[in-house]
Amino acid sequence: MKVTEAEIVISAVSKKQYPGDMLPEIALAGRSNVGKSSFINKMINRKNLARTSSKPGKTQTLNFYKINQSFYFVDVPGYGYAKVSKKEREKWGKMMEEYFMQRENLKAAVLIVDIRHQPTEDDIMMYDFLKHFDLPVIVVATKLDKISKTKRAAHLQRVIKTLQADAEDIVLPFSAETAEGKEEAWKVLQSFL
Ligand code: GDP
Repeated sequence: MKVTEAEIVISAVSKKQYPGDMLPEIALAGRSNVGKSSFINKMINRKNLARTSSKPGKTQTLNFYKINQSFYFVDVPGYGYAKVSKKEREKWGKMMEEYFMQRENLKAAVLIVDIRHQPTEDDIMMYDFLKHFDLPVIVVATKLDKISKTKRAAHLQRVIKTLQADAEDIVLPFSAETAEGKEEAWKVLQSFL
């Protein structure tokens, strides 16, 4: 995929703000600080379009990035911050449900996990949440550059096993540092567009 255009169209807090052109969408989810913005930026060849390391307490939004005038990446707010209040957590849940339950042009979801670590309870919950909507889930195990090559296969297996990923779900190793896995990731994402 050659990305020639990428722009943020809207940071939405509710359904009425979603883009109306109904182009296909791919949602991206992940624990805060897992490397979600870095994944997006690397995929679209931008240093800083998706904001990295978004801090808790900031307005939580669904960020719609229009790519090549033909589809959207929808960056959903990260999860897993210990310090988030119950009220904020509820708001987050409501926003997620509103989007995932009703969005007909949503084609697939990318769940970003850290290849170094066993997926957390929150990661498992997110995976189950996405599967609940009958979405194809692409698991991207990022920060690949941070483990040695000899450990890759075992770490990928641990991700698959911990999430109890379905056989049809694709699990991709990735590094935003080296861009390893980028072409494969585009190949997979394009198959859903
Ligand atoms: P987000 O909160 O999920 O959007 O996470 P960020 O994209 O802001 O990344 C969090 C931190 O991890 C930043 O310091 C990034 O530079 C770093 N990071 C993200 N992806 C990678 C990667 O593939 N390799 C390495 N070495 N660092 C990464």
